[in-house]
Amino acid sequence: MTDTLLLNAGYEPIKVVSWQRAITLLTLGKVEVLEEYDRSIRSPTLVIKMPAVVRLLRMFRRNKQPVKFSRVNIYARDHYRCQYCGTKLAIADLTYDHVVPRARGGRTVWENIVTACVPCNARKSDRTPEQAGMRLLATPARPTWVPVMTLRLSMRSVPDAWQDYLYWTGELGP
Ligand SMILES: [Zn+2]
Repeated sequence: MTDTLLLNAGYEPIKVVSWQRAITLLTLGKVEVLEEYDRSIRSPTLVIKMPAVVRLLRMFRRNKQPVKFSRVNIYARDHYRCQYCGTKLAIADLTYDHVVPRARGGRTVWENIVTACVPCNARKSDRTPEQAGMRLLATPARPTWVPVMTLRLSMRSVPDAWQDYLYWTGELGP
């Protein structure tokens, strides 16, 4: 086994990378090594143990693949709260609102869509927040967080060094 388990800053597994990739991240100062294999890697200048588990030192932002624009992700960005009255609701009870109404040229984009409860959505109707006398809790923006990824691994192929970290996910397949 020459793969390395990559954890985010919060010690949650996010993906499996090659040990070469792990070494690159290590030399760039982006990760710390939590577990090592017995095998060593030799280069002209150093000998290091092959990393088994590494942890990102900073919160990872994924810039190349933007967060998918979807109803559920809008609710997640807004912490499942109506952005007008602040009420926290279940997904089934939430709606989304065009801040600048579509009838007034408002677009369906991250920056113009907010989570709203049914009463606030009805009250605001086809008006801007100013016209309706309603204030937004926060200015809507494109989120930069990484959605939770699910690791699918076969338990048989998981090295012992990973066990302690995978225990927490509860996402392992058969
Ligand atoms: Zn509301």
